[in-house]
Amino acid sequence: MDSACIFTTPPLFVIFSSLFMTCSFLFYRLTQKMRKSRLKKYLRNLVLFVLAITGVVYFNIQYNWPVFHVFRNKNILAPCIIPKFDIEDPQLDRFFWKQVPLKCDTWENLVFIDSNGILHINETAIKRGGYGHVTCKYGKIKLHGDYKVSIEDLTDFKQPEYIDTDFVNVQCVDDGQKQVYNNLHMHVDIKSIKEQRKIGTESQDQLSVYLFGIDSMSRLITERKLRKTMKYLREDLDAYVLKGYTKVADNSFPNLLPVFTGLKAYTKEVPAGIDNIPFIWKNFSSQGYIDHLSEDHPGLASFQGFNAPPVTHYLRPFFMAMEKIVSPRSALNNAYMFVQHRNFLQNNVSPMCFGNQLKHKYVMDYTRRFVETYGSHLKFSFTWINEITHDFINIVELADEEVRDYFKWLKDSGRLDNAMLIFFSDHGPRYSEMQNTAVGRISNLLPLFTMVLPDHVKSRYPHIHRNLKKNIDRLSTHYDFFETMKDILNSDFAEKPAIDPTAIPRGISLFQEIPAARSCKTADISEHYCPCYSSKQISPQDERVRAISHFIVDQINLILDDIPGRCAKLSLDTVERASLVYADMERDEKAESYFSFRSYLWKIEEKTRILVALKTTPGGAQFETTVEYRGKRNIKLLGDINRTNKYGDQAKCIKFEEKFYRLYCLCL
Ligand SMILES: [Zn+2]
Repeated sequence: MDSACIFTTPPLFVIFSSLFMTCSFLFYRLTQKMRKSRLKKYLRNLVLFVLAITGVVYFNIQYNWPVFHVFRNKNILAPCIIPKFDIEDPQLDRFFWKQVPLKCDTWENLVFIDSNGILHINETAIKRGGYGHVTCKYGKIKLHGDYKVSIEDLTDFKQPEYIDTDFVNVQCVDDGQKQVYNNLHMHVDIKSIKEQRKIGTESQDQLSVYLFGIDSMSRLITERKLRKTMKYLREDLDAYVLKGYTKVADNSFPNLLPVFTGLKAYTKEVPAGIDNIPFIWKNFSSQGYIDHLSEDHPGLASFQGFNAPPVTHYLRPFFMAMEKIVSPRSALNNAYMFVQHRNFLQNNVSPMCFGNQLKHKYVMDYTRRFVETYGSHLKFSFTWINEITHDFINIVELADEEVRDYFKWLKDSGRLDNAMLIFFSDHGPRYSEMQNTAVGRISNLLPLFTMVLPDHVKSRYPHIHRNLKKNIDRLSTHYDFFETMKDILNSDFAEKPAIDPTAIPRGISLFQEIPAARSCKTADISEHYCPCYSSKQISPQDERVRAISHFIVDQINLILDDIPGRCAKLSLDTVERASLVYADMERDEKAESYFSFRSYLWKIEEKTRILVALKTTPGGAQFETTVEYRGKRNIKLLGDINRTNKYGDQAKCIKFEEKFYRLYCLCL
């Protein structure tokens, strides 16, 4: 569940209470010394003074209160045109800055659990830390329900030994019985599990499923803050990155529930009691998969309140046990994080750490241990990172290399050979004023969704690759994610008949082609979350269209200037089609939850976008693209210029490694 906005509560409370205390104190001192007549005058002045100060403080807060405009889409019945926008739009620059690394404690772990599950004392770390002689005990961590955790009796250990549970608390004392170490350790206890049940093996037809998610990441934020990860996904893993993947509700739970159940939250579709919800990992588990859920921040956890652990390897007790060692994150910590997000107080240990590492690292460590330990067994892994992105959009860049390296490790260790990897999010940022800009408003509705499939699936089932390529620019949702997992569960890769555009189901497997006619209405996306644009034909003779067409041809010639002397210079032949593309968004003031003076100063602008399809000469190449139009001299491309007819032999002179130019080149 998502907590309320944290930015404003602490300062309000602090300001008003200190004001009240100061005034009471001054009043008390004055009345002690004064005669009655003077006292009256002072009293009046004091009241005026307090009123004036309160007024200034009130107006200041009302002014600085974040602006959250709410918009709704007026046209949810129209076939969806996926919004095109500039990821690097400079109007968003002020929301992004480089995050200075957060600092954690610097002590070394005095014990470790190796990859065979054996707990060891780290003698070199003890020496380096200058602790002298140290003795350690460990206690197993046990979860009772979902909200209580206990640490079982502490046992001495001197010799390395196997740990027959996933999480332990280790405490060490020096010769003077002073505690020098109190930390948590994890591994994946495969031995005990294998004694209880049989686990299947991956094959080309039965794939493991790795779901790796980060809360509140729109595709736009991911592209801007996790650049290394996205580059690796595209270039090395040939990931499909969906541009029309849309949230279906406001916060985490109602967006993640459809992913794992195909059900719509807060409706009769969902059975009462979290233990009764038919999460898809239960189906995987009953088909021989081993399941795992790795998530930080028990308070924010996507699904919580289970009576029994929902999966076999469940990280929650580890995070619950942290609160037995350090105090839980408080409102003061939140204020502190707000300051650290602004790159102040960076030398102090961050509340996002537990001991010597950031908390999201434990989530990743557990996931990696799980995947490593179970090797080529069938695995269903769900990893979800909350804290680093829940309230702040810039801190996540500190995890860029770690996430990239995890994906790289998956590939290099062969763990992707028979697995589907999905890197995704539930919704865009909810607490960033970015949503008041035209690009922010739309992009926040479009969470991240990227999928990696083994090459053998793409070559054995070419329709899957073809459909996924098309679906990149179609309207898709969490319900489709669920349907896709169902196909993986049932090893169903077969080609199906095309979907009837007059009876489009709510969820469609991404292995099938999503009809272009899909609207928000048929996808069950309400007007507050519908990102789709609509379009209206305009005349190819329109003055703006003429200007844009010449601009596009100039841009193509500019691209060809990179490889001089090899391609013909192109000029405009005909404009074939043009349409005005617009967001059907209208402000819904009634849905705005609070008042801010700044709302009136914030300019709400919508830009004019025009799609133009044209033909060039010589060669008769056809192109199509959408631009942002602000005047004849102020036109901006939104994405690539697409070639819409075949280039065939026209681009024979272009080598394979330069194939990008083949789209534009007519060889001389
Ligand atoms: Zn969320």
